[in-house]
Amino acid sequence: MEYREYLKTDTWNEKRKARLKIDGHRCQMCGSSHCLEVHHITYRNKGHENVWKDLVTLCAGCHEKVHRMMNRLTAPDRHGWKDTLSYAEQGRRQQADQNPVHPGY
Ligand SMILES: [Zn+2]
Ligand SMILES: [Zn+2]
Repeated sequence: MEYREYLKTDTWNEKRKARLKIDGHRCQMCGSSHCLEVHHITYRNKGHENVWKDLVTLCAGCHEKVHRMMNRLTAPDRHGWKDTLSYAEQGRRQQADQNPVHPGY
């Protein structure tokens, strides 16, 4: 199942709600209770996430920051860009599934 499709399922909705409850409906970075989203700390267990270990509640702002940070951490060093770009061209679709640009909730 595609990640985007998965986000529409009841399974995910239940997990999302469970995590919000655990975190007391507060962003775990700044404490805000507005625009909350549930972030995947890891996608390893996608579809059968451990609510305690794999998810965390973040507000939209912090969520975006976390993803920007993740992108930077996984970004190749300067000398690796060319190879990465051609690789991305070849396997764009495959890569998008495994590593969504904005994984969302
Ligand atoms: Zn996220
Ligand atoms: Zn926040």
